[in-house]
Amino acid sequence: LLPASSLLKFLLKVTNWHHPNFHAYYPTASSYPAILGDMLSDAIACIGFSWIASPACTELETVMMDWLAKALGLPDHFLFSSGGRGGGVIQGTASEASLMVFLGARNDAIAKLQAAEPQGEPCELLARLVAYTSEEAHSSVERAAKLAFVRIRSLKTDEKHSLRGDALKQAIAEDRAKGLVPILCIATLGTTSSCAFDNVRELGQICETYFSVNFLGSNREGLWCHVDAAYAGSALLCPELRNFADGIELADSFNFNPHKWMLVTFDCSALFLRDASKIVEIFSADPIYLKHEFTGQPDYRVNTGKFRWGVDSAPEDLVRHEVLRHQRASGLHKKGEFEDQQSGKTGSKHVSLAKEFEALILADGRFEVVEEVTLGLVCFRLKGTNEATEALYRTLREDQRIHLVASKFHSSGVYFLRFVVCSSQCESKDIRFAHSVIMEAANKLAK
Ligand code: PLP
Repeated sequence: LLPASSLLKFLLKVTNWHHPNFHAYYPTASSYPAILGDMLSDAIACIGFSWIASPACTELETVMMDWLAKALGLPDHFLFSSGGRGGGVIQGTASEASLMVFLGARNDAIAKLQAAEPQGEPCELLARLVAYTSEEAHSSVERAAKLAFVRIRSLKTDEKHSLRGDALKQAIAEDRAKGLVPILCIATLGTTSSCAFDNVRELGQICETYFSVNFLGSNREGLWCHVDAAYAGSALLCPELRNFADGIELADSFNFNPHKWMLVTFDCSALFLRDASKIVEIFSADPIYLKHEFTGQPDYRVNTGKFRWGVDSAPEDLVRHEVLRHQRASGLHKKGEFEDQQSGKTGSKHVSLAKEFEALILADGRFEVVEEVTLGLVCFRLKGTNEATEALYRTLREDQRIHLVASKFHSSGVYFLRFVVCSSQCESKDIRFAHSVIMEAANKLAK
C-alpha cells in the first residue's frame, strides 16, 4: 500500500484530464454513475467469461449493447434482438476493436480462399491479402494490420480529408491487377488529427460491389467495411448531429469509445458486428471445462479465447450499465455533455463551445481554421508558414496555463493546433480564458 503522503504527491502530479483548461487529444470521460459502477464491479469481482460462469453478466452486456445501438440510431443488423447474426461487445479500446476486425477478416478470407484453392498454403494466401484505410486514419489501424500480418494501403483523401469512393475503387482495381485480394476497408468517422469524416456511403457501396471473397453470407459479397468512430460515435446520441454517419447501414462493423465522450470511465470501447460469427467461429476454442448445454446466449469468451468477443471482465459492465441506465432515464442528449445549458437547445454543449472558440479565433485576422468544426475540435493556425504556428505551440507549452497538442495533415503538410473541448465542466468562461491565453502568446510572438 502506498503511504498517504506518496499518494497525495502522486495525485498532485498526475495530469488532470478533467480540468476545464485541458484541451489536448480527445476527451476521456468520467461520471458519478461510472465511478459507482466501477466500485460495484470491484466489490462483486466475478468473471463472466462464459454465459454459464455468470449468466447475468453476459445477459447484462447483450441487453445493454442493444440499448446502446438503439440510442445511437445504428442499423438493426447490429442488434442481438434483430434475430440475425449481429450483436455488440465491449472491447477495451478502439485499437483492440480494429485488431479484432483485422483478424476476423484475415482468417475468414484465408478460409474462403483455401476452400477455392485447396492446395494453397495459408502463408501464401495471407501474402495476397490487402486492406485499405485513409492516410488520416489513427495509427492503431496500421498497427492492427502489422499485428495481423496483412498488407495495408493508406489512401489519399480529398480536400476535406475525407476518404472517397473513387480512391478506394482505384486502389482495388490496381491491386486486383497485381493478383492481390482486397478484404477490408476501415473508414474513420472523426479522424484523430482534425475530426474529418470518410464518406461511408461511397465506401460502403464499393465494399458491396467489389468482391473477391464472400464474407457475409449468401446475400452480401464484398470487402468488410469497418467504421472507426472512436471519438465521434458518441455524438450519434444527438439525432441532429447524425449527418456525418450517412451510409452507416452499409457498414459491417462499427466501433466507438464511450470512454471518450459518453461519461463512461476508461476502458470501454463498443464494437458492433453485422455477423459476429466471423470473429466468434474463427477464434473458437472449446475446452471441456468451458462447455455447457445452454446455447441461447453468446459466450463472450468461450468461443474466442482472448480473441473472444473481446470483453475484458464482464462485471465491468456494471459501470457501463449504471451510466447507460442513468442516461436512458434522463436522456443523454439532453443532459451533461449533450446539453447546451445556456441556450437550453438540444445538441452537444461541447459542440457549442467549440463553435464559440472558432468564432473567437476567426475574429482575429491573423488566424485561420483549417477544418470544418463539426463536433468538439477546432483546428487552427496562424496564417502563413508552419514555423509561426510551431513557435506559437512552443510558447503555449512553456506558458502551461492551457494544454493542447499540434498535428499536421498528411497530404499538405500543413501544421496546426488542435483545440478540443474535453472537460464536462468546461464553460464559456474557460473558452474565453483559453482564447485570451492564445492571443497573449500570439502577441508576444508578434513583438
Ligand atoms: N481511432 C480514432 C479515430 C481515434 O481518435 C483514436 C484515439 O483517439 C483511436 C482510434 C484509438 O483509440 P483507443 O485509445 O481506444 O485505442
